[in-house]
Amino acid sequence: MTNLLRREFLVGAAASAAALGVAATAKAASFGNPDRPAEGSINAKSPTSLDDPGPQNPALANQFPSMQDPPPTDVNGQPLFWASFNNAPKRIQNGGWAREVTQADFAISKDIAGVNMRLAQNGIRELHWHQQAEWAIMLDGTCRVTVLDEEGRPQVGDVQNGDLWYFPAGLPHSLQGLGSTGAEFLLAFDNGMSTEFNTLLVTDWFAHTPPDVLSMNFGVPADAFKNIPLNQRWIFQGTDPGPLAADQRAVRSPKGAPPHPFVFPLSSMAPTRQSRGGSVHIIDSRNFNVSKTVAMARVTVKPGAMRELHWHPNADEWQYYVKGKARMTVFDTGPKATTADFKAGDIGYVRKSLGHYVQNMGNTDMVFLEIFKSDRYAEVSLSDWLRHAPPELVMQHLNISRETLVQLSNVSPNIV
Ligand code: MN
Ligand code: MN
Repeated sequence: MTNLLRREFLVGAAASAAALGVAATAKAASFGNPDRPAEGSINAKSPTSLDDPGPQNPALANQFPSMQDPPPTDVNGQPLFWASFNNAPKRIQNGGWAREVTQADFAISKDIAGVNMRLAQNGIRELHWHQQAEWAIMLDGTCRVTVLDEEGRPQVGDVQNGDLWYFPAGLPHSLQGLGSTGAEFLLAFDNGMSTEFNTLLVTDWFAHTPPDVLSMNFGVPADAFKNIPLNQRWIFQGTDPGPLAADQRAVRSPKGAPPHPFVFPLSSMAPTRQSRGGSVHIIDSRNFNVSKTVAMARVTVKPGAMRELHWHPNADEWQYYVKGKARMTVFDTGPKATTADFKAGDIGYVRKSLGHYVQNMGNTDMVFLEIFKSDRYAEVSLSDWLRHAPPELVMQHLNISRETLVQLSNVSPNIV
């Protein structure tokens, strides 16, 4: 819209408001309240503009202050980028449960499908495989993972709260909760349409293979399999697997062990970057070699701090909120700007290269994960860009003084 058209539009809005007997409020755009036409409750001057007399569920609605009352800098109309495990149905079986948010539930989430799973003490997620890669982070307890790579090299490992695993597409694996805590974890599949409820299961294949074929394949009498389960197990209650070293000895192959581990001890890694406002741990194929299709930043934001204005040039960002209270605004062409609120167990999504920032809205640390379908983490910082563009050029764009320009965050701090 040219300046001229824009002026005309504003005049027209003022005139019709006056004609309706409503206080004429349209005025020149102001800092923090850009008119176009104006959005936000600050611009709703008529006495009943803000009324909301229709059906309500206050317990739910009150969780979303930024959606109920967006800032006047927002221009709404983007696809919903908020989802949650908190309202995802659990599939519960003896031994544990899982719930998921896939692209079928969350239309924008093209790159990643998320699963939240709990395995009881000795609970087993059965031997299985699938067409997509599986990335995971432990949220509680301890888990034993087993995997076999395509060269026939096995790995068995135990992971603790905060640790990761990554299984490339098609590699067979299993999971088991250990000790009195069992295990809870987050899975990210590198395809939004993946589902944890539809994987290739060893029990399913046995039950759907003729006995004589089983006999021929394994070189034992068909009778040996007469007690196999006729229905899949998926998650089931198992028994104590014993010490890790014994399992590792038992699976040993003449082909050796995989050259790069499929688990990553994030719980003992020092932050990649740290500042007064918080810290960031970045894990991708550069430090977790096998993780060729998923990169992750775990971000801790202190009270009163903010994950700075930035974007990611290489991939969409799928977020998981681990703890605390957050508010994120996403900026797109249009212009569009949408603000949403997040709490523990919620999911956010930002399409590739769209600008965004995440504020800690609580009085405790806020922790969230930024997950990307990519072999590497990549980011562009707005303040870094403006600090490394010719000063005169930037000053002409923003009408800011040289003193202000010099003060723009000098190094990319990630968290301010
Ligand atoms: Mn799996
Ligand atoms: Mn980001």
